[in-house]
Amino acid sequence: MVDLKGQYENIKERVDSSIMNVIETTAFINGPEVHEFQKELEDYLGVKHVIPSANGTDALQIAMMGLGLKPGDEVITADFTFAATVEVIALLQLTPVLVDVDPVTFNIDVEAIKKAITPKTKAIVPVHLFGLAANMDEIMAIAEEHNLYVIEDNAQGIGADYISKDGSKKKTGAIGHVASTSFFPSKNLGCYGDGGAIFTNDDDLAHSLRGIVNHGMYERYHHDVVGVNSRLDSIQAAVLRAKLPNLDTYNATRQKSAQKYTEAFKGIDQIITPSLCETCASERYDDCNCHVFHQYTLRIIGADRDALVKHLNENDIPCGVYYPIPLHLQKAYKDERYNEEDFTVTNQLVKEVISLPMHTELDDEQIAYITKKVIDFVNK
Ligand SMILES: *Cc1c(COP(=O)(O)O)cnc(C)c1O
Repeated sequence: MVDLKGQYENIKERVDSSIMNVIETTAFINGPEVHEFQKELEDYLGVKHVIPSANGTDALQIAMMGLGLKPGDEVITADFTFAATVEVIALLQLTPVLVDVDPVTFNIDVEAIKKAITPKTKAIVPVHLFGLAANMDEIMAIAEEHNLYVIEDNAQGIGADYISKDGSKKKTGAIGHVASTSFFPSKNLGCYGDGGAIFTNDDDLAHSLRGIVNHGMYERYHHDVVGVNSRLDSIQAAVLRAKLPNLDTYNATRQKSAQKYTEAFKGIDQIITPSLCETCASERYDDCNCHVFHQYTLRIIGADRDALVKHLNENDIPCGVYYPIPLHLQKAYKDERYNEEDFTVTNQLVKEVISLPMHTELDDEQIAYITKKVIDFVNK
């Protein structure tokens, strides 16, 4: 699904010397590489504060801790996402409220959010799923009306633009009250282990978060709040510093590959290709930076998705089903309050979606081979 080795070969010198530098200076934790990376990412995103953390799941949890959410507070998020999003809500004894998604963008359905709001609702967690920004104009408007926090789960969307109705442009993760991201190796900006970060423009929240990631300490050995130990280590920061200057090129390369896939699938009735953003007038993925294609995900209709997975695997083509089970049906997150008729889209998508290989080293020959095998199968 990804070619991390191929990508490494192209930046080997820079990465190797950065890693060696950390080892030689032995500044393994909170070294200068971490601080430099933090500043460089703040500049790139146009956000006032980046707080690095150990991984993207922690980042989301710490964001919620920093907002002071309390047990019993309701947090609305999408039924169709990676489990980490709902896991941290439950772990903090907040009440997850899962809602359906939009069938075109795969992102949280704004009408479903409106329906789910109660007096106990405190926050909304939109996920920029597969690299396409959620409908942030609407989500921010709902949040303002009901006095809710918006926590962007930007693990899959780093580098994507969001263009508001008024034409203004921001990076995903720089729009809500706070955001989290992941530097898991296969993410669009991946390190060589675990890593994550929290972003915010709020000075007071940033201060609070910096203490929470470090055992609740604002002054050495003074523990003012219950915190966690969640740090990005210096070696990972060094890798990320070597890769950040390439992020826009990496995302553009993904968009070009996505465009090629979609052109190859034109006119095939059994395949629905990924949609572009709702606000951009562009017709081409490579003209619009609103989808950074963490995943290139098709809907297969009128053909057997699971048999297609098997067919591709038999032809040595990796593929993935993200995600095969709606979160509201997972054992850990089942709840009597949920009604199946409120999840018609997610219940359908889990049967239809398939993600094809997507990374920075895909070449035309590979895309031609993959698309041919997919089309041969659905036309069979
Ligand atoms: C990857 C991911 C996470 C978790 O990130 P980790 O660094 O693996 O903890 C959270 N949310 C979404 C949507 C993700 O894709």
